[in-house]
Amino acid sequence: MNWAASAFQTWILSMVDHAIVASHLTISFLMTIRNKAEVIDPPQNKDMTDIVECVNSPAKTALKPNVTVSSSVHKLLECPVCLNAMYPPIHQCSNGHTLCSSCKPRVHDRCPICRHELGNIRCLALEKVAASLELPCIYQSFGCIGIYPYHSKSKHESQCVFRPYSCPYSGSECTAIGDIPYLVAHLKDDHKVDMHNGSTFNHRYVKSNPHEVENATWMLTVFSCFGQYFCLHFEAFHLGTSPVYIAFLRFMGDDNEAKNHGYSLQVCGSGRKMTWQGVPRSIRDSHRKVRDSFDGLVIQRNMALLFSGGDRKELKLRVTGRIWKEQ
Ligand SMILES: [Zn+2]
Ligand SMILES: [Zn+2]
Ligand SMILES: [Zn+2]
Ligand SMILES: [Zn+2]
Repeated sequence: MNWAASAFQTWILSMVDHAIVASHLTISFLMTIRNKAEVIDPPQNKDMTDIVECVNSPAKTALKPNVTVSSSVHKLLECPVCLNAMYPPIHQCSNGHTLCSSCKPRVHDRCPICRHELGNIRCLALEKVAASLELPCIYQSFGCIGIYPYHSKSKHESQCVFRPYSCPYSGSECTAIGDIPYLVAHLKDDHKVDMHNGSTFNHRYVKSNPHEVENATWMLTVFSCFGQYFCLHFEAFHLGTSPVYIAFLRFMGDDNEAKNHGYSLQVCGSGRKMTWQGVPRSIRDSHRKVRDSFDGLVIQRNMALLFSGGDRKELKLRVTGRIWKEQ
């Protein structure tokens, strides 16, 4: 069950511009609308398959066979205290037990293995072994074919474009990580997120009691267009004491690709209109980081009630939008 949807008592009608007037929203009704939207707009599995192939294919290309280092050398280079890989300077006690340079100050000059005084002895032999190693990137199974000198491997890995993404589903403690095709399937199957094809949308966010604004009030919809996936977030949060709504788009991919796209969001109603034009943010940027930087269509609650019209008892925001690819 999509927890967010039921907590927010909100429904989204994508592409389908039904005029629905209902104050009592049941979960089954919500599910009916969801299923309907999926039938009208079935996801194109073909696109997904294409991306799978595209992401995985580099892994099948040349992998140098002689670069794998035996696990015993890895074991030698593992710090006995923190279990991380040791990089020069590598220290040792007078009995030859080794230790990484960040753990050395933490053991109060005593060898953690034999309790002898550590002093200031470097293990030059192991440092030389480390310097001579060239290792494949840890994200090899995700498609990275890079081979890196031991000392620069971890630096590469922190920026590797094949490193897995975190699940973009906001407001949950989800720890799923993976490549984009995996996360798309995960959002659909495990979070029951609405998936839509197309680059335009027409959503309606409705809340029967606009005076209850919780911090964890949010919605996520995934759009597929231009062979890419985008997350449309809509949520309510408190800015100081004032309740605020924000809608923004995130790109399921890296920042350099995200910048090749643009999007616009427009909220209109009761003769009023407000437009936001922006650049989708990579899902490498956390959902919270994007929200807190106000990089989206921000609507103060009083303004949201103006757009809703009527008696200010119900929040009814109609948000239309478009995604495009820059030429
Ligand atoms: Zn250590
Ligand atoms: Zn020792
Ligand atoms: Zn890599
Ligand atoms: Zn997840």
